[in-house]
Amino acid sequence: MTTDLIIHRIGLGTDLHRLVAGGPLRLGGVDIPFEYQAAAHSDGDVVLHAVTDALLGAAGLPDIGERYPDSDPANKGADSRRFIAEVLGDLRRSGFVPVNLDIVIQAERPKLSAHKASIRDSVAQLLGLSPDRVAVKAKTNEGLDAIGRGEAVGCVAVVGLMSISC
Ligand code: MG
Repeated sequence: MTTDLIIHRIGLGTDLHRLVAGGPLRLGGVDIPFEYQAAAHSDGDVVLHAVTDALLGAAGLPDIGERYPDSDPANKGADSRRFIAEVLGDLRRSGFVPVNLDIVIQAERPKLSAHKASIRDSVAQLLGLSPDRVAVKAKTNEGLDAIGRGEAVGCVAVVGLMSISC
């Protein structure tokens, strides 16, 4: 663990998608074997959508819904890794890079304990971060609300940015 973290901006992102029959379930760019998948205009990756919104928020940029509207045919079936790559490019041009990322995935099923490391590694690679700068937690909703009934999957992400212009 490095101790040289300097955080100049913090961003928060959340996302939630309904689950529909199908599969696999894509989380953080990783296809998790499951009999349900996220209903979405894009690939429905709640992790990458929450991370994208956290990055945009930290930089003070318009949110993911404004930037990648589901009314735009170009975003139909979009690989959400593209959103991350494009937003990272904008951040870098604005003088910021991510320093660390903390992610909480909310899902009653599937059990994610066996997949957290691969999700962490995937997201770390997408952000150009060492895996020890990325944390992935998974929580159920104790059977409560839509997530708890297995009707939806959600994610909360917090990102720290460092200025590269000072
Ligand atoms: Mg979304």
